[in-house]
Amino acid sequence: MHELSLTQSLIDIVEDYARREGFSRVNVLKLSFGRLAGIDPGALEFTFEIQSRGTKAEGARLEFDIRPAVLYCNVCEQESHSEGFLSLCPLCGGGEVILAGGTEELKLLEMDVD
Ligand SMILES: [Zn+2]
Repeated sequence: MHELSLTQSLIDIVEDYARREGFSRVNVLKLSFGRLAGIDPGALEFTFEIQSRGTKAEGARLEFDIRPAVLYCNVCEQESHSEGFLSLCPLCGGGEVILAGGTEELKLLEMDVD
């Protein structure tokens, strides 16, 4: 499960930051990733809860900003948002569609700490 390594690096970042900044606990971690990055938010929360035990990140709430899939069409030259990858443009039906967003890797946007 690749969520395990994602949460571990997240916790490493928090611990590092806690050492430097001297805070005692984290309330909220705001994360973002693309809808098509293959990350399951539920699995992430689950592994985070287990792996964060005994660390500065323990008890933190995770908030997700999930980026939509973005399609770019070479025929009508428009961008559209979608739940997943489509091979036809939803605007003009053209078949020259490329994925322009939605596969972003997990990123830590903000940390709310005490
Ligand atoms: Zn189009």
